[in-house]
Amino acid sequence: MNRQSHIFHRNANHTPPRAARGEGVWIIGQDGQRWLDACGGAAVSCLGHGDPDVVAAISAQAGALAYAHTSFFTTDAAEDLADLLIEDAPVGLSRVYFVCDGSEAIETALKMAHQYHRERGEPTRQHVIARHQSYHGNTLGALSAGGNAGRRAVYGGLMLPNTSHVDPCWAYRFQTPDESDHAYGARAAATLEAEILRLGPENVSCFLAETVVGATLGCVPPAPGYFKAVREICDRYGVLLILDEVMCGMGRTGTLHACEREGIAPDIMTVAKGLGAGYVPLGAVLCSGQVFDAFAQGSGSFMHGHTFVGHPVATASALAVQRAIRDRGLLTNVRERGAQLRAELEARFADHPHVGDIRGRGLFLALEFVADRETKRPFDPERRFNQTVRNAAFTHGLMVYSVAGTVDGRHGDHVLLAPPYTATESDVAYICERLYNAVTAASQSAFPGLDEQSVGL
Ligand code: PLP
Repeated sequence: MNRQSHIFHRNANHTPPRAARGEGVWIIGQDGQRWLDACGGAAVSCLGHGDPDVVAAISAQAGALAYAHTSFFTTDAAEDLADLLIEDAPVGLSRVYFVCDGSEAIETALKMAHQYHRERGEPTRQHVIARHQSYHGNTLGALSAGGNAGRRAVYGGLMLPNTSHVDPCWAYRFQTPDESDHAYGARAAATLEAEILRLGPENVSCFLAETVVGATLGCVPPAPGYFKAVREICDRYGVLLILDEVMCGMGRTGTLHACEREGIAPDIMTVAKGLGAGYVPLGAVLCSGQVFDAFAQGSGSFMHGHTFVGHPVATASALAVQRAIRDRGLLTNVRERGAQLRAELEARFADHPHVGDIRGRGLFLALEFVADRETKRPFDPERRFNQTVRNAAFTHGLMVYSVAGTVDGRHGDHVLLAPPYTATESDVAYICERLYNAVTAASQSAFPGLDEQSVGL
């Protein structure tokens, strides 16, 4: 039935189809059409849809106690989830601050770093260094820290002044042919030191980076040694290292935290999407004992807080999700199905003239599209190649996350894959087949220009 929608949708001129149900990796529409959710929405639905254990946990908590403000109470749900998160956290992280999503987690982390320095008597440390072509959320602080040129452009006048950006660590486009992986990692990290020295270390609060860059660059892991060097630089200058694992964390790359592979731990870490798997919105900030102690031994209170911090239903739901990931051994499946997905994509697209790079880790993979594989020249942005792939896939029962502006916020196209950790061998085969058909259709299509399904960035 065609009814007028009163929702301000992402595209003001397009109302998307109504999703009615979810079953494992599938989303089912009102008219029964099925889509394999190969991107978990936006790398969220890591357990798939309709998990009975999570549904039961939500129902039990809502029945027992749906809400209790954290200025009065703590709850078993929040305490048990915090215990579990700290048990498996990178070395040194010892406290958890719950929020509702990734942007709130970033705002919280930036403010925590800022107040940490004040508590320690270094109030001039106010500057945030982040990286170009990164994304940390859409609230104003997170958007200011983010280096996604396309998303920032509209809000130019509102961006916070105390932020600056260094280059990402992106081998496909920045490593030179004569440079080893380690040499490139060291060169990329050196840009951080140069920026700290330019600003004066006494003015720098933190360095914020996605461990594996998600949406903006398309699943770009760091070069070997990059984060070890970054960790050393931050320690040398008293700068806090904040790792944003909102998208790449909580098992998505095959280890619970993406930074495990880098052999380092941050001072502050943000997680969200896979934490609650989309059943109830939830994000979290994990911080080190050193950060927490500055507050405990200082003013005692973090000048922050939102109404829904530590929400009992959200934390109970995420606790069930996190137990499922551990108890069902799902990280092994992430690694095995991730290896299968990568191998099948590499085989199918080995000679494809418009697939420039296939990259990522675990079940977090992206295809970067180029007009010319030899020179890595991107498509004309007007062609909207990524959206043409997305729309062709969607029409044929596959959800992929399409992004424009890979190279500089305007040029470049990629699609990102982040299927549920429960995906089977045949799900992966289905994803590869449908995606191959969609990319082939996009390659053969004439210049499509604007279409009504376009959803912007
Ligand atoms: N940080 C990263 C790395 C993200 O990918 C995102 C969202 O995509 C965010 C932060 C913001 O999260 P949210 O959309 O939940 O506010």
